[in-house]
This record gives sequence, C-alpha cells and structure tokens, in this order.
Amino acid sequence: MNGSILTTADRGGENGVKLRLKSIVERIRIAAEKCGRDPSSVRMVAVSKTQPAETVRKVAETGGITLLGENYIQEARDKIEALSDLNLTWHFIGHLQSNKAKIAVGLFDLIHSVDSVKLARELSKQAAKIGKTQQILIQVNIGQEASKSGTMAHTALDLVHQMAALDHIRIRGLMTMPPFFDSPERVRPFFSALRQLRDKIATETIPGVSMTELSMGMTGDFEAAIEEGATLVRIGTALFGPR
Ligand SMILES: *Cc1c(COP(=O)(O)O)cnc(C)c1O
Repeated sequence: MNGSILTTADRGGENGVKLRLKSIVERIRIAAEKCGRDPSSVRMVAVSKTQPAETVRKVAETGGITLLGENYIQEARDKIEALSDLNLTWHFIGHLQSNKAKIAVGLFDLIHSVDSVKLARELSKQAAKIGKTQQILIQVNIGQEASKSGTMAHTALDLVHQMAALDHIRIRGLMTMPPFFDSPERVRPFFSALRQLRDKIATETIPGVSMTELSMGMTGDFEAAIEEGATLVRIGTALFGPR
C-alpha cells in the first residue's frame, strides 16, 4: 500500500494535497481504531524536507497541517523564517551535529534525533542561554545498522539516565528509523521492539523523563507503526508526493 489513490494530473495541485491529506488522516484513523487506540493519540509530522517554502505554505493554507518536520538545519532555518507568519510548529528529525545545536534550539519544539550525551549536553547549554527547556526524543538504531544514526538499544537506558541529569532538556520518548523493507509487516517487529524498549525505560520512572512519545512510521509503513504504538508518524511522500 502506498496510499496513492490519485492520478498523475492531481499530483501537483492544491486539490491533490487536500485529497492526499484526507486519505492519510483516514488511514491513521482506521489503523488506530483497529487496535483500540484513540486516533487523536497519533500526530502526523508532515515531513517537508526538500519542499520549497511556497509549497509548504500552500499545503499549510489548505488547513489541517500545523506540525512540520525538517532534516537539514540550513534548509529549515530559511524555510521557517519564510513561513514565520503562519502558525506552524517545527520538529527536527535529521542527524544533528553538536555545532548546530544552538540554531536547532532556536527553531524546534521537539528534536527527534538525539543520540549522544555530548549532543544532549550542548542542547541543554544552548537552551539554558535562551531560557528554554528543549524537548527531545532519543533516536535508537533498533535494527543495529552500521549506516544509521541512533544509540543501540542496550545503551539507551544508560543514555537516558545521563541525559536526565541535564537541566534544560526534557526527554519525551524514543524515535527510530528501522531497516528498509518493501513490506510493512517486515518492519513491524522493529516497531514492536522500540515500544518494548520504551516500556522498559518507563518502568524506571526517572525524574524529569516522560516516555510518552514513540516517533516511528513513514509513508510506507505508518499503519503498522500506529498498531505498534506510534504517537508521532513522520510522513513526507504520501503527503507532498515524490521528492
Ligand atoms: C524523509 C524522512 C521521513 C519521511 O519519509 P517518507 O517515506 O517520504 O514519508 C521520515 N523520517 C525521516 C527521519 C526522514 O528523513
């Protein structure tokens, strides 16, 4: 299932985006209800990387989208600036280097991709300077792939303990980019593993840490992710079309 119910002629237009959004919202609802979850417990992060600001503006102005996800700091900074008249919330979902922490803290409500104490420390330091508490997720390399960022599952708890001691960040949950498979059913065990890891960390009840968010699932597999407990699904292609 790729979610595309549209002809090529619809793709670029505003109408196309509206229809695609409607279809995604419906699919989120069905997946949530299938496993007895409230659909409102799942938020969609519209992944706007590589999409020009004007495209994002058109999509935002059709209504229904207020939460955007970006992967690259420079691109995000320009886009967020260009769209500052709109009431949008931005999440960072890409790989973040410590030397970009200052900019990231100034732009994003939630950073999904924190995977080292060094980065968390820098985020906390920069957040302190502007009187902010930066919300973060810990990125976990749940498939143990050499090519992917993220902490290994077995080190995640230790990382959470160390980061919890930092004053100006707040850990809200976990994020993962699982291995790629054509079939969502083959990705599902990785989603399930992230949820179990989240549950395990949650039982530790570490002060200042809430393990409520699970950021997992993209265009090809978001329904399986929702069935396994996703609270944030990151959707690019199904909404904006191919990049
Ligand atoms: C690009 C990207 C997505 C969106 O992927 P689609 O398959 O286009 O929905 C989600 N998460 C991350 C981290 C990404 O880089």
